Amino acid sequence: MENISRHEQHEEIFNAFEAALGEGNVKDNPATVNAYFGDWLPPKTLGMSMPPEFVVLPNGTMEVQAVIKICNRHKIPFIPVGSNQWSLTSAPNRPNTVLIDCKRMGTIHEIDEKNMYAVIEPLVSLAQLHAEANKRGLYIGSPEASAQSSAVAGHLFQGMWGVGYRLGVAYRNILGIEWVLPNGEILRTGSFSQDSDNGFWGEGPGPDLRGMLRGYAGAMGGVGMVTRMAVKLHPYPGPKEWPAEGLIPNMTSTLPKDKFTWDIVKYPDLESAIEFMYQVGKAEIGGVVQKWPTVYYIWWWANSNEEYWTEWQKRTFQDNVKNAVGISLWGFTSSKQTDYEKRVLEDIIEETGGKRIKQEVFDQWVPRTANNWIRDTNGSRMMRPSGTFLALRLQTDTLDFSVGQVKTGYEWVDKFTPPILDSDGPDWIGGYDFGHFGFGETDFPVEKTAENLGDLMGKLLEMTKEDVQNGLENGIGPFLGGAYHAMAAPVFKYDKLLRGIKKAIDPNIVSNPPHQIPMEE
Ligand SMILES: Cc1cc2nc3c(=O)[nH]c(=O)nc-3n(C[C@H](O)[C@H](O)[C@H](O)COP(=O)(O)OP(=O)(O)OC[C@H]3O[C@@H](n4cnc5c(N)ncnc54)[C@H](O)[C@@H]3O)c2cc1C
Repeated sequence: MENISRHEQHEEIFNAFEAALGEGNVKDNPATVNAYFGDWLPPKTLGMSMPPEFVVLPNGTMEVQAVIKICNRHKIPFIPVGSNQWSLTSAPNRPNTVLIDCKRMGTIHEIDEKNMYAVIEPLVSLAQLHAEANKRGLYIGSPEASAQSSAVAGHLFQGMWGVGYRLGVAYRNILGIEWVLPNGEILRTGSFSQDSDNGFWGEGPGPDLRGMLRGYAGAMGGVGMVTRMAVKLHPYPGPKEWPAEGLIPNMTSTLPKDKFTWDIVKYPDLESAIEFMYQVGKAEIGGVVQKWPTVYYIWWWANSNEEYWTEWQKRTFQDNVKNAVGISLWGFTSSKQTDYEKRVLEDIIEETGGKRIKQEVFDQWVPRTANNWIRDTNGSRMMRPSGTFLALRLQTDTLDFSVGQVKTGYEWVDKFTPPILDSDGPDWIGGYDFGHFGFGETDFPVEKTAENLGDLMGKLLEMTKEDVQNGLENGIGPFLGGAYHAMAAPVFKYDKLLRGIKKAIDPNIVSNPPHQIPMEE
């Protein structure tokens, strides 16, 4: 009886979705739902996720609203996704889940050249927006998830990209938002609230609600679905078309040398590398300033696993790029600016005792790889050699603070190598806002087996729990969404606030539970 009524309920929900979205836009067949079940992150390997019951493809805000109202009527959970890479928070973890795929919502509604912003739907990728912006002398960055990822999801989630050093990180770009709340109401913020065609302004009216969506790592789909967003664009001194020579994977990219340069400068230790980053920031030069770990050089560069391991055995990168900083100068105003910045850079290199990496390594790496920090394509290679990667210590603080964090991070990695794969001190430190803040991260490849991943994930969670109990925010936590807020909110005393918001806008707990904070008993 239970099975029959469940089947009937399934049919009823399917029919309701189809009536709202039209034939062909609701899927429940095994081939489709299983295609949404599989990931490079741990959930599937660890049995923490399951296929969705339905995949729905709404087109536009009103259809998203209809889907969310149906979910409320039947009290079934939904998950909004962009390009769906962050399965830690976008994989179904409850029966009867509806996955809202934005595949039919890929329009760039407007690029306002004068006021420098674009109005986009959730499927618009950063690469698509970048290409259109470039034609108009404008620019948007891309995180190392690659520019193939959704621009709206990237703005709602992390949004730390290479050019954040000069142009700010993504969450500062969010202007007007059109957003369907978990209870099905439509909310427009910023200038969209007055004029749904005008996205130039992000704040208000009244309290700025962007914080409800964002914070450090976003609400992870736990506060409804954003269906339209206006994002800020930035000045760009590059060509109208992205330069790319050759065919993938043997593609190279070189931007005009009078406006863009790359240098990779090596130091005897991490502290002096960071001092160089501070000095560059103080001089207010450069467009991208990054201290990449050895694995980043080879992850992004290698065109195949064979090439990866062959080069690893040759030690090309381990012996040449340790404690090196990559810096790209941008002649925003003219080539005279590039010339001026080059001279300042020379002085800083000399004063800080830096040495450029060997020319042959520079020539091998830069044309194929460096511009990924301006428009990324190869980020997805991070999980290729081992099937996945894990990260710890993702903290935003000063550059100096990042040094201590990544050091304890790679001590931890050393301790558990193997099963962690050889990674040569996986310390990534990005400089942002001219070095006024830094972001440290320790990324490492791990063999994708349930045993290894389960063990390491357990240890990482234990470390997070201990840190929280000691009043420390350890960086990785916020990227886990609800699971982290359940631990941290009572300690850092934002429990009432977050639960109050969730209760007010999601009375049936349908918006991607347990995010952004668990509400069920
Ligand atoms: C290899 C790799 C490297 C990465 N490196 C970086 C990095 O250097 N810097 C950085 O900033 N990020 C990085 N990330 C994270 C990255 O920012 C995100 O994976 C990506 O930008 C999010 O896009 P997505 O379309 O995959 O999001 P999804 O996985 O689709 O969504 C992410 C979360 O947002 C929610 N969401 C998605 N769309 C909506 C919507 N329309 N409304 C409401 N909620 C929504 C989802 O429910 C989910 O919880 C990396 C990720 C990968 C895979």
